[in-house]
Amino acid sequence: MIQDFLVEMSFSGTAKKQIGRKEIVKQLTNEIKWQAVINNNAEYDGAFYYAVKTTGIFCRPSCKSRVPSRKNVVFFHSPEEALKDGFRPCKRCRPDEPELSVELDKKAYEKITWILEEEYMSPDILPELPLRMGISAFHLQRSYKKHTGYTPRAYLQKVRIIKAKQLLLDNQRSNTEICFSIGFHSLSSFYAAFRAETGLSPGKFRNQTILNT
Ligand SMILES: [Zn+2]
Repeated sequence: MIQDFLVEMSFSGTAKKQIGRKEIVKQLTNEIKWQAVINNNAEYDGAFYYAVKTTGIFCRPSCKSRVPSRKNVVFFHSPEEALKDGFRPCKRCRPDEPELSVELDKKAYEKITWILEEEYMSPDILPELPLRMGISAFHLQRSYKKHTGYTPRAYLQKVRIIKAKQLLLDNQRSNTEICFSIGFHSLSSFYAAFRAETGLSPGKFRNQTILNT
């Protein structure tokens, strides 16, 4: 979560200046990259590559190969740089194969928005988005935010909390039922998201609104 936050920060800061992807990628610190490697975080695919000195192989951040020892890892901005330094592409994650298409058109943004609004109740809708759109998670997140002002994650949270409020006011279901029916993985993430959007806990929101009407 902290690394998401850091990337958010660097994205929002740079979007205004309209500088290129390369500049944004340069702002990823080695610590953020290393965390992405440990977590096989596909959101960073296309943003950087890592090579392992002991094996001579380089990978995408999402690669499920064994996590190497930190001291043997070097980072690259492109597969070309890694190849030039004598590393071979991993057979598993194929970092040498071209990125999925980078540019999205207006229709694609509408489609992403539509998917988030219609399928918010699916817990894994975010990781599925890049596959369905045929674009890397890194580019999807970055270009959607540039176009709409929201990351897909932030927009999805808004949609879910609007739905949560309706369900709370219906007063038919418990907080736990509501939480899982709108796609949250855990009660704690539901509570945190609800508080972030409304400043209240779900229970307080329900009581306060119902008492006042
Ligand atoms: Zn790999």
